[in-house]
Amino acid sequence: MDMHVADLKKDFLEVFGVEADQTFFSPGRINLIGEHTDYNGGHVFPAAISLGTYGAAKKRTDQLLRFYSANFADKGIIEVELEHLVFDKEDHWANYPKGVLHFLKEAGHIIDQGMDVYVYGNLPNGSGLSSSASLELLIGVMAEHLFGLEVERLDLVKIGKLTENQFIGVNSGIMDQFAIGMGADERAIYLDTNTLAYELVPLDLKDKVIVIMNTNKRRELADSKYNERRAECEEAVVELRAALDIQTLGELDAQTFDEYSYLIKDDNRLKRARHAVLENQRTLQAQQALQAGDLERFGRLMNASHVSLEYDYEVTGLELDTLVHAAWAQKGVLGARMTGAGFGGCAIALVERACVEDFIEAVGQSYTATVGYEPSFYMAEIAGGTRIFHE
Ligand code: ADP
Ligand code: MG
Repeated sequence: MDMHVADLKKDFLEVFGVEADQTFFSPGRINLIGEHTDYNGGHVFPAAISLGTYGAAKKRTDQLLRFYSANFADKGIIEVELEHLVFDKEDHWANYPKGVLHFLKEAGHIIDQGMDVYVYGNLPNGSGLSSSASLELLIGVMAEHLFGLEVERLDLVKIGKLTENQFIGVNSGIMDQFAIGMGADERAIYLDTNTLAYELVPLDLKDKVIVIMNTNKRRELADSKYNERRAECEEAVVELRAALDIQTLGELDAQTFDEYSYLIKDDNRLKRARHAVLENQRTLQAQQALQAGDLERFGRLMNASHVSLEYDYEVTGLELDTLVHAAWAQKGVLGARMTGAGFGGCAIALVERACVEDFIEAVGQSYTATVGYEPSFYMAEIAGGTRIFHE
């Protein structure tokens, strides 16, 4: 569903009984390739998408913050005192905005009046398209404009991550907030998660499109398995350090890893480390392929990434594998892979525009026959980062 400024303003008026000052949009993100590489000191390659979170806001004259989300209408208006920005389970989704405003104030920015905030998102929640980071950046940019703050975009990105890590309690990297805050039209972001050095790479899809496929399965196992994988990779680094002077797996090329992999004394750890090293190399190759406009090669690297996530890193599961394998079997598909942390959530496919209708029909049928419920499909453009929404 497409949102218009007039609809947003009308909804705001209905909820709060006053006119909004300004309207905003914050995208979601996909990761093209480079999965589970961020905490291994490697590269990621995400892009902001045209699905995301819309917002409207008005500054208040008192110290009250009032939040309403059309996605959680049952929660009604959640009221918070500006002077009381601490995590409270009762405040449900409003903890994200509370965290962002808390860290903005902590960084010395002056927010001395409340605001009324209306939010509506067309990203599925909890599906790996990062609706939470989308919301965090939306609130950050809202505060920037309403209160006239002088804040660097990269600082808003870091505040989003702080909110996620220290306020909500999710141990995630910086990729999501970076992609959402720094995104640009038809550009993917080649990012070194260690140094935050990045490059905007033109994503000229020609007659192809990126189809987002949602398993509609929530990522239940994601948290415990995520921590388990992190620990396995850290242990592998310790073993490799017997002969190599490294801090992370991302520092290794394929050849060096191969030569020293005998030092890793456990089969599972060997597989996890192999994924981290080779996925980082694939991400580098994918960046080169896109620079050269070689979408066929880019598609093959997507496929190789999924195979590695399925067999070496083991973070896919029946739902993602069924979707991706079905995608591979269709006409006009250059590549497909899971995107995000895994264990459910979404996959992406690079598909000839002319084949998309048949693709969606066939993949949908195949998935439903195996899994027992339907997947969802979204067509998203690669679009700009969090911004004022004009139309
Ligand atoms: P993901 O980021 O992968 O979508 P998360 O579990 O990290 O999944 O974040 C989802 C949470 O973010 C929701 O449960 C809600 O608290 C908050 N959120 C995201 N979008 C919205 C929205 N449009 N309105 C209110 N809260 C939202
Ligand atoms: Mg999230």
